[in-house]
Amino acid sequence: MPQRLAQTWLTQQALSHPALKPDAALAELKDKDLDALGQAANAWSITPDGTEGYAKAEVTAGGVDTRDLSSQTMESKLVPGLHFIGEVVDVTGWLGGYNFQWAWASAMACARALTPASTAGASA
Ligand SMILES: Cc1cc2nc3c(=O)[nH]c(=O)nc-3n(C[C@H](O)[C@H](O)[C@H](O)COP(=O)(O)OP(=O)(O)OC[C@H]3O[C@@H](n4cnc5c(N)ncnc54)[C@H](O)[C@@H]3O)c2cc1C
Repeated sequence: MPQRLAQTWLTQQALSHPALKPDAALAELKDKDLDALGQAANAWSITPDGTEGYAKAEVTAGGVDTRDLSSQTMESKLVPGLHFIGEVVDVTGWLGGYNFQWAWASAMACARALTPASTAGASA
């Protein structure tokens, strides 16, 4: 936990646990206070109060239903010959590379399916 967040959090905890001194060293705390802190930390939840809007958005939720696509070829089960890959499909990853991974992996699966067997795997 970043130091400033830890200090703010401890100061808030001290309001409901008067015995807790936010500046106390860990070794000075009694076991029951440590237990109380541990329980409070595990029960702590955060409710975001908003987003930074579309201009800062990095990934979209929703899209073409994966149940309507072949996971092997990304071809539509409803319209043969039509393929969907990447962002347009209803697959949303955590930030950190998972969306790129999905875009590249689904593109690879699709490309392999569209490549005649004789040239599949050949280097470009
Ligand atoms: C600011 C930002 C930061 C991101 N950071 C990360 C990250 O760190 N890690 C991660 O994994 N993901 C990240 N993402 C998400 C990731 O970029 C996308 O999931 C990924 O690029 C999707 O690839 P795609 O090829 O499916 O779609 P896109 O990359 O959106 O490509 C679609 C292409 O189609 C073109 N196009 C659209 N309409 C038409 C048309 N009518 N005719 C012709 N061309 C058209 C568009 O111009 C675009 O070039 C980020 C996204 C944003 C916006």
